[in-house]
Amino acid sequence: SKYLIGLTGGIGSGKTTVANLFAELGIELVDADIVARDVVEIGTSGLNQIVDHFGRQILNQDASLDRSALREIIFNQPKERSWLNNLLHPIIRTEMLNQLAASSSPYTILVAPLLFENELDRLVDRTLLIDISPEQQRKRTVNRDSVTNEQVEKIISSQAPRAEKLLKADDVIDNHGEISALKSKVIALHNNYLKLSNNA
Ligand code: ATP
Repeated sequence: SKYLIGLTGGIGSGKTTVANLFAELGIELVDADIVARDVVEIGTSGLNQIVDHFGRQILNQDASLDRSALREIIFNQPKERSWLNNLLHPIIRTEMLNQLAASSSPYTILVAPLLFENELDRLVDRTLLIDISPEQQRKRTVNRDSVTNEQVEKIISSQAPRAEKLLKADDVIDNHGEISALKSKVIALHNNYLKLSNNA
């Protein structure tokens, strides 16, 4: 489809929960995190180029990418970090655009935690933010994953501030309420997106 919605929100905000409700309505999803993983799977040119550059020390026993080894290398080496970004960003972007173009639902949703941070909002027609307070983000993430408050805090502060995302987003779902309150909000947005995609 041609009409694209970018769905974003900080860690633990409820992106996956909301995206699944759109999927139940027949809307196809492209997940930026999954694409980012796919392009460095075994056998991809992405992974081959990383191995050519960093050596086989970057691989696990099973020849898959050792993410923590890679993270460690680029952590204190800005030059290597930008080498990696320059390699992967265009590959990820192309793959995302291919998957979005292959979708046949009336509109398509790109789910991306870092939609604004990585300027992926430029690829979409409209943006939808799942908004919750940092306190709720911490609570729900610690509840879901085995991570500490401090680890969640670190991730929250690495993402764009809530106020900035609220300013940028075209649509906002307030997710402070119950999960059961989300369905009717999603249906209302869905009807609007169907109209917008029809007129696009
Ligand atoms: P991440 O970016 O970390 O992958 P996410 O934005 O996709 O997170 P979800 O996984 O959808 O967020 O939600 C985070 C957690 O909060 C999940 O355990 C989910 O079930 C729960 N959750 C989502 N919405 C609500 C809500 N309104 N009330 C209570 N719990 C919720």
